[in-house]
Amino acid sequence: MTASLFPLFADLRNRTVLVVGGGAVAERKVEALLQAGALPQVGSPDLSEGLRRWLEAGRIRWRAGTFDEEWLDEAWLVIAATDDSAVNRQVYDAATSRRILANVVDDAELCSFHSPAVVQRGLLQVAISSGGGAPMLARHVRRQLETLLDDSLGTLAEVLTRQRDAIRARLPDLGLRRRFFEKLLAGPLPRLLRRQLDATQADAYLHGLLEKENPALPAGSVVLVGAGPGDPGLVTLNALRAMNEADVILHDRLVSAEVLRLARRDAIRIEVGKSAGRHSTSQDEIHALMLEHARQGKRVVRLKGGDPFVFGRGGEELEFLRAHDVPFEVIPGITAAVACAAYAGIPLTHRDHAQSLRLVTAHCKDSLSALDEGGVDWSAMAQEKQTLAVYMGVAGLEKVREQLLLAGAAPHLPFALVENGSRPQQRVITGTLASLPESARHHRVQSPALLILGEVAALADSLHWFGAAPLAAPELSANPQHSDNLGAPTLPQAA
Ligand code: SAH
Repeated sequence: MTASLFPLFADLRNRTVLVVGGGAVAERKVEALLQAGALPQVGSPDLSEGLRRWLEAGRIRWRAGTFDEEWLDEAWLVIAATDDSAVNRQVYDAATSRRILANVVDDAELCSFHSPAVVQRGLLQVAISSGGGAPMLARHVRRQLETLLDDSLGTLAEVLTRQRDAIRARLPDLGLRRRFFEKLLAGPLPRLLRRQLDATQADAYLHGLLEKENPALPAGSVVLVGAGPGDPGLVTLNALRAMNEADVILHDRLVSAEVLRLARRDAIRIEVGKSAGRHSTSQDEIHALMLEHARQGKRVVRLKGGDPFVFGRGGEELEFLRAHDVPFEVIPGITAAVACAAYAGIPLTHRDHAQSLRLVTAHCKDSLSALDEGGVDWSAMAQEKQTLAVYMGVAGLEKVREQLLLAGAAPHLPFALVENGSRPQQRVITGTLASLPESARHHRVQSPALLILGEVAALADSLHWFGAAPLAAPELSANPQHSDNLGAPTLPQAA
């Protein structure tokens, strides 16, 4: 087995580091060294413009000429960044014989220390190394971390550094201090820093916590998170972070397995979905579960398909949490109407076809009855130049057609049914209102499916891009006059 490198963060403040080379690469290295408070000495016959400026500002020393072993006399480290491999090797050999760590830029063989790929957030630095053999992999991992670690971590590191003594004084016991930090870092402070607080306010917040009777006691919280329609790429960065920080995830059945796989491995996952034929959790039971775990000091993620505030009962859950004094946050998600439309090639609004959009649910019988029976305002729904997005509608399609036609909608009004929108198994069925329920039955449309009604729905036939092309209504595919195969021979012959 090859030995791995020993990771090390060096304190180079006021220590001499020799950089051999005077070009752009040397300049980059010198810049990093200056940031670390080191005293760079640059050895080279001439200097780049940037190096010259630092020299004039008194920030670096210049050893003019070709490499001389004596340059190493004061050096703690040496970096060779010349374009002459013989010189680079000479520097490396001379340094090694003096037991000074040396780095030849871009030559892993001639390195007794490597510079890692770094993600930096103020004082917080994450260094990544592949051992020198696979720098592209290290860079790839760095890019992934760049998206996960946001700027507020720098402020957080700064605040914690500043408050270190105060925290130690208040919690001299190491065990208690650990628990305090765990609670602090898992709690709202990192999130508050991300959105609302500046460093001074964070200092005050921390002091407030320290003044509490028992600062190390955990405080639970709930984050209401929209998981989007199923494609894991449609999960927001905030949702991803919340899932990474969760102790407990209460998720709907609608949340896809691919999305759940993004969550922290150790998190307890509880499906609280409602679905036909399975045990379903009542809303009261969901409330009780959230409360139970939050009161144990857990970070609870309440994960819902799409957006939590669009036909997701998110409002009720927050009312419950507020009534029980449980702190909460909400992270929006991409709702089914937006996702299904995009993945089916249906612009929800369009200058020629629709100036407004209605999100409607056809969930229960009541919601589909007439306005005077406590249901929907069907005459408003039947208006032209708008788009209807009907959620949970598969079972109520007969009723939707009946009510819309009664209210004056045109029988040839286009529809698109999007089943499993944004998922690999997505299907889109297009047709007109007159044949809507028959079409759905013919193609055995299953939940989850979203119904889009309006002129824009017809655009799916020409603008589709994801998965299979839209399926037609049954009377069209059954009618030979409309069949592509039969139409082909009558096409004009190519000249
Ligand atoms: N809060 C969710 C909606 C919950 S209601 C959101 O914002 O999307 C559940 C209904 O949403 C389903 O019956 C279906 O009509 C629709 N839906 C959710 N995900 C869907 C998907 N991937 N494809 C099609 N419809 C979907």
